[in-house]
Amino acid sequence: MLKSPAPVFRGMDFAAVAETLSTLEETPSRLEMTEIVASLLKSSGRDLRTVVLFIRGRVFPPWDPREIGVAQKSMIKCVSTATGTPAKKVEETIAALGDTGLAAEALFTKKPQTTLTKKKMSLAEIHSSLEKMASWEGKGTQEKKGRHVIELLNSVSPNEVKYLVRLVLGEMRVGVGEGIMRDAIAKAFGVPAAEAERAFSLINDYSEVAEIARTKGEAGLKKIGILLFRPLRPMLAQTVHSVQEALDNGCRAWEYKYDGMRIQAHIKNGEVRVFTRRLDDVTHQFPDVAEAIKNTVTAKEAIIEGETVAVDESERPRPFQFLSRRIKRKYKIDEMVRDIPVITYLFDCMYLDGKNLTTQKMKGRRAALNKIVTEGNHVKFSRTLITNSADKAESFYKESLKLGHEGVMAKNLGAAYKPGSRVGYMYKLKPVTETLDLVIVAAEWGEGRRANWLGSYLLACRDPDTNEFLSIGRMATGAKDEQLQYLTDTLKPTIEFQKGKFVKLRPTLVVEAGYQEIQKSPTYESGYALRFPRLITIREDRAPEECDSLDRVASLHERFTAKK
Ligand code: ATP
Repeated sequence: MLKSPAPVFRGMDFAAVAETLSTLEETPSRLEMTEIVASLLKSSGRDLRTVVLFIRGRVFPPWDPREIGVAQKSMIKCVSTATGTPAKKVEETIAALGDTGLAAEALFTKKPQTTLTKKKMSLAEIHSSLEKMASWEGKGTQEKKGRHVIELLNSVSPNEVKYLVRLVLGEMRVGVGEGIMRDAIAKAFGVPAAEAERAFSLINDYSEVAEIARTKGEAGLKKIGILLFRPLRPMLAQTVHSVQEALDNGCRAWEYKYDGMRIQAHIKNGEVRVFTRRLDDVTHQFPDVAEAIKNTVTAKEAIIEGETVAVDESERPRPFQFLSRRIKRKYKIDEMVRDIPVITYLFDCMYLDGKNLTTQKMKGRRAALNKIVTEGNHVKFSRTLITNSADKAESFYKESLKLGHEGVMAKNLGAAYKPGSRVGYMYKLKPVTETLDLVIVAAEWGEGRRANWLGSYLLACRDPDTNEFLSIGRMATGAKDEQLQYLTDTLKPTIEFQKGKFVKLRPTLVVEAGYQEIQKSPTYESGYALRFPRLITIREDRAPEECDSLDRVASLHERFTAKK
């Protein structure tokens, strides 16, 4: 007897999801948005994981290094070819509407309809199609990807085009942040939001959290543990302004605060992978760090944490800019390893031979770290002092600054490791330079000698309620030629549109900015303006969503006015 073919999974139509995304975009209330997302998740069935990813503007979960690899410029070409509109007109439409997805939708709406009736694309089809694109490599890939995007755009309705374009470019702009997603999962599948958040901080993937909540409920979420080679969200530090304040908060362990890149190394049977604070895998850029860890750690399986710092011949720290050159470097890694040597100072151990140590006290975690690491030339323990004497801690702080480090970290020896939270278990103490980490949202081409560089960067902070970026000032000083070149090269592919010298950028890059003062001002969207903002460093290690919030700006402003 002939076997009937297995039923093909079709699932939801992409058009239906696009409809919901439209509704979300028009919904201002966070509560209502949560309801809408929750009911979409509830009805997603086997499409759930894709739905969660798409709403957040992703094709792959955050820990997955795969990328679609279609930049803004190529997208403009695709829209131009698919709609028969000159590229310049596409750019103008983007400039007028302020968004590539919206512009594509408008141009596709105007396009004369083909006589062929379009078949409805399912969500699964769109997903697997984009997934396939990410796997293409080698010569001619860009052209092949372009043709594929055009084919996809031509297969869907203008409303779907809008979201497809945004998806390919990696930004959905419907305002669903991690908080709304967490609450929607909780609502849709009747699990506690805190449990969803805990699971997320460990596996860093809300699509998987949602799937487990759907199929296994709260009990399933509770079982989620640490996974090797899946970075967990680092525990973050609060700020103190004096040694005494840290002592008052229960801290007895003092460590040098190194100015480098926070790394999390995962080790399994001799294989080592290195992740950044943003959970990016940088093993390729830092083979020396992986090798050094491999040679110094004796455990079979472990997750350890530390700060990697660029150093000179006498092991003195070099400014962060040196290290930052290594972070995004894809080629000629050997040269970088030779020219910018690094030391990794280890300070924590979150997992050891099958055991999750995050629930253990810091004292125990540090003891575990000490047991499995033998210091070498490139891997050392963070310099630590245990004391409850304010004088001794103060001298330690001064000593750290004298050696060129940033300050001290004060830690609570009795506290657990809370992934992804800024709980009061660890504090940073550094000289008062209240800088802000801000995202660049626009810029202007320079003049004269600087004509080929972007300069005068429009900076923005984050509105924690809406996840939008709100402008706060223009930064035109502090960048050296080399940094201007770097900023230009990095920002150019993110240009959304250009008008004269002005370019609107997709918010992708964070910088640390210094300033003289924060004032209230109607000029910028945030309602505040920085006086004389200047570039301190480029923070590739920070995601735009991690830039400073409007609340922090407001509290710094308050502090300024109080001091006056
Ligand atoms: P965040 O508090 O969000 O990490 P940030 O990146 O601006 O903000 P810093 O002000 O630099 O943070 O202080 C915290 C960072 O200090 C840690 O994330 C880590 O990268 C670094 N650091 C340096 N030395 C240590 C140490 N001994 N222990 C813990 N963290 C350290």
